[in-house]
Amino acid sequence: MTTRSRPASPAPAPADPPWHLLEASAALAALGTPPERGLDDEEAGNRLARLGPNELIDRGAKSPWKILLEQLTAVMVLILIAAAGLSALLGKWLEAGAILAIVVLFAGLGFVQEYRAERAIAALKKLAVPGVRVRRGGEWRELGARDLVPGDVIALEAGNVVPADVRLIECANLRVQEAALTGESEPVDKDVAPLTRPDAPLGDRRNLAFLGTTVSSGRGTAVVVETGMRTQLGRIATLIQDVPVGLTPLQARLDRVGKGLAAAGVGVALLILGLGLLAGEPLEDMVLTAISVAVAVVPEGLPAVVTFTLALGAQKMLRRGALIRKLPAVETLGSVTTICSDKTGTLTENRMTVTVLDVAGERVDLSETLHARMPALERGEARPEVLLGSPPLLRLTLAAGALCNDAQVRMGEDGRLETLGDPTEGALLVAAANAGLAPGELTAALPRVAELPFDSDRKRMTTVHARAGRLPDDLGSVLGRGGLEPERGFVAVTKGAVDGLLDLASGVYGPAGVQPLGPEWRRRIEGANDALARNGMRVLGVAFRLLDAPLADERAERDLTFLGLVGMIDPPRPEVREAVARCRAAGIRPVMITGDHPLTAGFIARDLGIAVDGRALTGVDLARMGDAELEQAASEVGVFARVSPEHKLRIVGALQRRGQVVAMTGDGVNDAPALKKADIGVAMGITGTDVSKEAADMVLRDDNFATIVAAVGEGRTIYDNLRRFVKFAITGNVGKVGVMLLWPLLLAGAGLPLGSAIALLPLQLLWLNLMTDGLLGLAMGVEPPERNVMARPPQAPGEGIFSGGMGWHVVWVGAYITAVALGVGLWYYRLELPQWQTMVFTTLAFLQVFQALAIRSGTESVLRVGLFSNRLLVGLVAVVLALQLAALYVPLLQATFLRLVPLSPAELLLAALLGFSLLLAIELEKWFVRRRTRAA
Ligand code: ADP
Ligand code: MG
Repeated sequence: MTTRSRPASPAPAPADPPWHLLEASAALAALGTPPERGLDDEEAGNRLARLGPNELIDRGAKSPWKILLEQLTAVMVLILIAAAGLSALLGKWLEAGAILAIVVLFAGLGFVQEYRAERAIAALKKLAVPGVRVRRGGEWRELGARDLVPGDVIALEAGNVVPADVRLIECANLRVQEAALTGESEPVDKDVAPLTRPDAPLGDRRNLAFLGTTVSSGRGTAVVVETGMRTQLGRIATLIQDVPVGLTPLQARLDRVGKGLAAAGVGVALLILGLGLLAGEPLEDMVLTAISVAVAVVPEGLPAVVTFTLALGAQKMLRRGALIRKLPAVETLGSVTTICSDKTGTLTENRMTVTVLDVAGERVDLSETLHARMPALERGEARPEVLLGSPPLLRLTLAAGALCNDAQVRMGEDGRLETLGDPTEGALLVAAANAGLAPGELTAALPRVAELPFDSDRKRMTTVHARAGRLPDDLGSVLGRGGLEPERGFVAVTKGAVDGLLDLASGVYGPAGVQPLGPEWRRRIEGANDALARNGMRVLGVAFRLLDAPLADERAERDLTFLGLVGMIDPPRPEVREAVARCRAAGIRPVMITGDHPLTAGFIARDLGIAVDGRALTGVDLARMGDAELEQAASEVGVFARVSPEHKLRIVGALQRRGQVVAMTGDGVNDAPALKKADIGVAMGITGTDVSKEAADMVLRDDNFATIVAAVGEGRTIYDNLRRFVKFAITGNVGKVGVMLLWPLLLAGAGLPLGSAIALLPLQLLWLNLMTDGLLGLAMGVEPPERNVMARPPQAPGEGIFSGGMGWHVVWVGAYITAVALGVGLWYYRLELPQWQTMVFTTLAFLQVFQALAIRSGTESVLRVGLFSNRLLVGLVAVVLALQLAALYVPLLQATFLRLVPLSPAELLLAALLGFSLLLAIELEKWFVRRRTRAA
């Protein structure tokens, strides 16, 4: 959603019935929704057909008119229009018409490119829209937000963008950020109670949540009351404005280059005009020359080619699973120097399997059996025989893990257990189910009445349950045996990081019932925790507390009784090891940032090659460090463990102050600031929250680290190609302007008659620019990656586009082009051959064709690059050559438009050979460069 904050509290649009006045049950009844089942698919389908999809008419994208206007008012286009006007004043209708045609062509091309890029990005953004959990026909399902209809029951949790206007049915600490709608920047506490004021402003309607706002914490369920344009956001149509799409840094730089060139062109044109007039040349000739120079200098194809290349790059990245949300990311990716990645799900598979249970004195290690069963485990098959007979205390631990849980498990069609929700919690449910503890029966006996949701700062979660029904026998007896009073009405269950949990626990359930948690127990538990973590396991502690009242705040987490540890394995993704190696070869440092235990993190980091020594800094270490110390540490340490999202922000900052270009992954709500601050914020397509996706520059559709590395490779290629094109276009134009400028001076200097002071006519120059900047330039955008693209260090941050010898290249190749074209022209002119101008024209064309071929690699020879590795270029070179021949031999073009003289085959060959000499010269330059780098 591309909304921005607005003046406070707009007047609510009338809604019937006034949902905020109704009880939740009345709202459900009014919508015809059975609360426990939700709508049936058939009814939902009917409503969808009647009311249309739940989407806003997109007013966000730039309007075609605006794009067109921008194209037409670009400096370069204005210069061309002026040139056309002047030509018309001179009565040169052909020139005027042709220049205008070029204006239309390039502005049209630029328009189409930009329009398509706009639309492609808009379409990509739609792809990034996440699913919604909806209850349909009695079961929870994941649907696209588009398919929601009034009456649908949906689940909301921290990080969701509210997908429609909804009436809350049930909520737990639900807070919603409504700035998009009301301008209020503090999150609002939500509640289910009905209100009494019919005209309450939107910001006060606490039992409603509105489309486009975001859940900042907590959880809830709600029923959809309005969808699409009938929502509050939809009605206030002015709210839907796009965030202005700025130029990418490279585009901005190119824009400056283009403007500079244009200014230079006008300057030089005026200079020539003045000099010519002083020398007594006829005004008309000199004006025409000035027009020609201006035309020669303007890189007409530049904007179109840049947009084309960037948009093409975004498409290519999408095919590799990286969705670009902001076009500049395409080029910024190319200069990334550090990739900070989450562990769970990005470096690992996020396919958790519980393998160890550890309670006082008892331990079930499933890993021995695990190895033999790996194939079965991978298919997610149940293993009842392992856990069914497990001791009661272990079963109590599993039961607690299943109660303090928001995931769901169900039997898939193929008889395997499938989980929905957080994989860590899913694994707990599967383990409990394998021990014969059906989640449904547990929640029936102990329904949840309050909760403190998981958050990655606290690294734990608590649920409070009423003791409503009978527990399974053995669990009841285990509680009794522990001396736990059966008459207390509520039980709080907490699960989370063991280190934090031990600080909150005062007792432990040992072999002889509940005992105080003394130093000895603490050491034992910490030892068990470390032992598991050292083997790369994620460890959760489980604890509980009996209560008299359903406390819904942190008081429920005091005086806990520790139950046990659950160790789960989350295998590293197999392809990541190679991606890490590729990263290193490319001079990019991979860094792991995780909320997990340092030992777990270190194990995985060593396994993947991210940190050789597995040395890890923790959040506690970070908190102690000053900024300077952190800068030093951040550039050395490869693993940050037990960190919270706020630490991520500090780490990004520290790296950036060291001049690093940082890509940072994140999935949670509180990762958003770090994602925004990073040069490339990367969100997770599968597990990421909506808020993190909104903040990101790029979304990984597969959550995979390897995809980031692939995208960096694409980014480098695109940056290379753009630079190559700029180099090519500017060099060519410098060469042409040189010819125009020096021609009259040389004639005068050599004492030759100033029969014609104009080396090339405006139309001839236009034609040449069309061939080179236009046709050949397009082909440069699709040049395949250079062989060493991921084997060289990243481009130094802040390095300009002309760096790395490019300025020098522009100067010498420009001079070469000028010299060769002028030389051949002068020679013919002296011999008084009428085809002198045609020779200049044709030689220039060949020079640039061979230049295009020669600069395909900055260092490697053309032979090594392979002539046919860029088929588009080969094809377009053929087209350019054919068009050149047509220019020489098709009468209409030759005589009427371009005023050329047909050349003999020998002369053609001469022009071609002169052009070829530039290829040889550039190859020589590359050879020197190669030798120098090898020597260094
Ligand atoms: P990661 O960076 O690996 O994704 P998280 O921030 O998700 O780490 O988790 C950090 C720690 O919080 C974990 O090591 C675990 O101890 C605890 N934890 C993770 N998920 C849950 C959950 N659903 N409930 C309770 N605790 C959790
Ligand atoms: Mg996580």
